[in-house]
Amino acid sequence: MNLYSLLESGFPQDRNTICLEVPGGCDRTWSEIEQGSARMANWLASLEIPLGSRVAAPVEKSPEGLMLYLATLRAGFVFLPLNTAYRDAELEYFFGNATPAVVVCPIKSFDWITPIARASGAAQVVTLNEDGTGTLMDAAASQRGTFSTVELADDALASILYTSGTTGRSKGAMLSHGNLGSNALTLREYWGWRGDDVLLHMLPIFHIHGLFVGVNGALLSGAKMIWLSKFDAKAAASHLPSATVMMGVPTFYVRLLTEADFTRESCRNIRLFVSGSAPLLLETFTEFKDRTGHTILERYGMSETGMLVSNPYHVHEGQRFGGTVGKPLPGVALRITGEDGQPCKVGEIGLIEVCGPGIFKGYWEMPEKTKEEFTDDGWFRTGDMGRLGGEAAGLQVPDDYVSIVGRGKDLIISGGFNVYPKEIEGFIDDIPGVEESAVVGVPHPDFGEAGVGVVVAKPGATLDALQIQAYLKTKIANFKVPKKVVIVKELPRNTMGKVQKNLLREEYRTACL
Ligand code: AMP
Repeated sequence: MNLYSLLESGFPQDRNTICLEVPGGCDRTWSEIEQGSARMANWLASLEIPLGSRVAAPVEKSPEGLMLYLATLRAGFVFLPLNTAYRDAELEYFFGNATPAVVVCPIKSFDWITPIARASGAAQVVTLNEDGTGTLMDAAASQRGTFSTVELADDALASILYTSGTTGRSKGAMLSHGNLGSNALTLREYWGWRGDDVLLHMLPIFHIHGLFVGVNGALLSGAKMIWLSKFDAKAAASHLPSATVMMGVPTFYVRLLTEADFTRESCRNIRLFVSGSAPLLLETFTEFKDRTGHTILERYGMSETGMLVSNPYHVHEGQRFGGTVGKPLPGVALRITGEDGQPCKVGEIGLIEVCGPGIFKGYWEMPEKTKEEFTDDGWFRTGDMGRLGGEAAGLQVPDDYVSIVGRGKDLIISGGFNVYPKEIEGFIDDIPGVEESAVVGVPHPDFGEAGVGVVVAKPGATLDALQIQAYLKTKIANFKVPKKVVIVKELPRNTMGKVQKNLLREEYRTACL
């Protein structure tokens, strides 16, 4: 089934109600979203490009950007959202790999993007600006406001999402209409989405979190979204009283907590706070609960798989445990495998492997890479390390709860021993005056690899690298203590709030030589 048809089945009866509330802009009704996407779909269809052609969209977040996504689905093409922060070398790579037939970009980037798009064979390069103007809109304006959504099989491609590439070259994850639809249906049920929900939407829509978890969830439930082009703690605090659901990366929650206007009162109508895309610090989880009375629901997923694991929403499903990402969602099978390929026991750390209807079809034009990432019996290797059950945040958690300990590629093997950065980061973060930390592995002449601790101080605090090492030696085995500790102003993060450990590894590559 075409994903759009599935989403449409959840639209409210009265299409004249508001779908997108756009503070400082023009609100859009459901009918306007339907008509706007129909006009764009008619224009795309008029290009007479084959079904399955890619529509690349390095555009700013806007209601029209959302319509473009829906139009692409409706017309049977493949949506390729891209961060507008990408520069020419990056777009050359993405366009070269995905060979889009249509490229949509803001007018301000048109001059430098057009030659790159043309060189990769794009037939059309049109503009769409943040304010909803552009040549795409001009072309769509003369099209009909109705469109018969193209019928497609579940395994037809709906989108290609390039992975964030924090551990290597970005790869295009191919997601089918069935993959995205099944995940949206599961989350609607599991998180109790309702037609009278109001989602405070502040995430970008070039990423799975904002687009598939946020947008698809709200559309499928007929729920309104408060549509902010980006996150700003002050604006978030002011719109929260009108919302029932907020989704964010951990940084959103950290920043909200620094906002004086963010109070228990401002969350009075919220029924669900969701965090994901990067680990939520236990400190944030606890402080948030103390401040608001709300327990953030942390979940885990990735571009290649959709959402896999979630803390429960309904009390009868269980408790939300800080430091865990919850239990496999209905329909998801998850196992933890040791380096020897054998299943790990409860509490043991290993590689997370998954199966389920949301798992992608493979990496675009990379059959070898795809093969490597699946086991012989068809499970996807997430590349994340974690454990089932055991202890999280000092509590014994049930055996079906998953705790993530980090990317497998972040694992440090020092003198033959495994060092899990997250464990060491937890000890460093407990030191008074430490805001946050990241531990990365770098080459070491004796041990092969050694950890470097990169530490950020709380505002006004002074830290001493040698004292941090001395403290760690009293807490953990010597082989786990970073051989070097550096104090920095901030950690490099990508737009989804993920710490870019690849950049740190590069920066401190020679620190232990
Ligand atoms: P992306 O494909 O950009 O969404 O990145 C997916 C990766 O983000 C996963 O493989 C994890 O490494 C990480 N991730 C997502 N959610 C969480 C979470 N709740 N805790 C820790 N890591 C997470």
